[in-house]
Amino acid sequence: MKQQANLIGGEWKASDVSRANLNPSNPQEIIGEFADADASQVDLAVQAARQAAPAWARATPQQRFDVLDTIGSEILARKTELGTLLAREEGKILAEAIGEVSRAGMIFKYFAGEAVRIGGLAISSVRAHMDVVVSREAVGVVGLITPWNFPIAIPAWKIAPALACGNAVVFKPAELTPASAWALAEIIHRSGLPAGVFNLVMGDGIAGRALVEHPSVDAISFTGSAATGKLIAQHCATHMKKFQLEMGGKNPLLVLDDADLQVALDCTVNGAFYSTGQRCTASSRTIVTEGIYAQFREALIARTAALQVGAALDPKTQIGPVVDERQLCKNLDYINIGTTEGGSLLAGGKRLSGDGYFFSPAIVENHDPSARLNQEEIFGPITTLIKVKDFEQGMVVANSTPFGLSGGICTTSLKHASQFRREMQAGMVMVNAPTAGVDYHVPFGGSKASSFGPREQGGMAMEFYTKVKTHYLA
Ligand code: ADP
Repeated sequence: MKQQANLIGGEWKASDVSRANLNPSNPQEIIGEFADADASQVDLAVQAARQAAPAWARATPQQRFDVLDTIGSEILARKTELGTLLAREEGKILAEAIGEVSRAGMIFKYFAGEAVRIGGLAISSVRAHMDVVVSREAVGVVGLITPWNFPIAIPAWKIAPALACGNAVVFKPAELTPASAWALAEIIHRSGLPAGVFNLVMGDGIAGRALVEHPSVDAISFTGSAATGKLIAQHCATHMKKFQLEMGGKNPLLVLDDADLQVALDCTVNGAFYSTGQRCTASSRTIVTEGIYAQFREALIARTAALQVGAALDPKTQIGPVVDERQLCKNLDYINIGTTEGGSLLAGGKRLSGDGYFFSPAIVENHDPSARLNQEEIFGPITTLIKVKDFEQGMVVANSTPFGLSGGICTTSLKHASQFRREMQAGMVMVNAPTAGVDYHVPFGGSKASSFGPREQGGMAMEFYTKVKTHYLA
């Protein structure tokens, strides 16, 4: 199989080493062979970006708009083909994969608009005969490092604002999902963007680390594990690089006695299990007040057991495979930890037969909020079920982890919904909606250990990708 190469300085550059990309629905199927960048290729990519950066920073907003709009249009026009590729390499079902591709297209369209809206501030000086203007400029060369769970949307929500603000980009996608990244790079390559403004270096953490540590990189935007985020933070702090981190979650969904039962069940099943639970905003703790608990528990077990697990492209499938063997083993380990520490397995939690990495969505009941299963991110289709006395106790439990990405409540009480929105220590709060599933044009991010730095997506994304200059005019 021919190697799909890295994009460096506007040219496709093969690498000595290739990495095969496997289909998690059927690991016998090789989707492609992708170049594996070493530190020297990363260096070439950063140099190319450095050279291209000044001219792109001076490009007119209209030029940037045109490029981003062209990219967005092509992604949208090819959403079924790109969605099929994404479902094959990542394992989410086709409808979700096409949805993700559409989101990526809309993000490019949105940031095309932002490119012509970059504003500043004219403000009166405290001195006589002086004017003050505050403007925003490109940061320079930005390194973008992304995870495998949204292989086109997360790259889009970093690349689009970076280019809109006039930065040059070196993009390092996750090693498990290079096909969507490569397809996106190929579209960007033909968009009219000057050579070197956008560079793709595929590879694993070695390439990621080389990018983070390269002295010519001005800023790093990262989405991935807390452990890698910490390493990146340490390096960037020492070397005075701007950085932004999106990491884990342990997102609670609080179901109160007065909730609409069907709404609460829909939110739980969607939030906990869709996209195979592999969303950082997935509901991994379902906290339920005692009046509705027995009824909710029984209905949730039935709904969970009825979910169809199977190949991502099979139209009957509701829950696709886990992304790889390692993640499947992690899920099984956590089921074991959950029962060993006193939890009851109420549904699923088994490896299913078939060629792919199929795992049945699981519910583990454990009312102790300090249990490991109620504290640690698993990143699989597993939710815990926790019974609480009332809203007040539920609120305490909801806030009792180090994470703070997303939190949801199902209730018909305006009072409790309002109090939850105020008191939930999270970057995103949902009322009668799943903890996962967000709009593309508004800020995304968390608090506590989930995120660090300015928000991503929406107008606030421009904060990270620009630097501020204050002008005094006498
Ligand atoms: P996950 O558990 O989701 O794979 P990682 O944090 O390991 O989380 O991976 C997220 C992204 O970070 C991937 O693109 C991966 O290759 C990259 N990465 C892993 N280790 C490092 C590192 N030390 N420095 C920079 N990037 C890294």
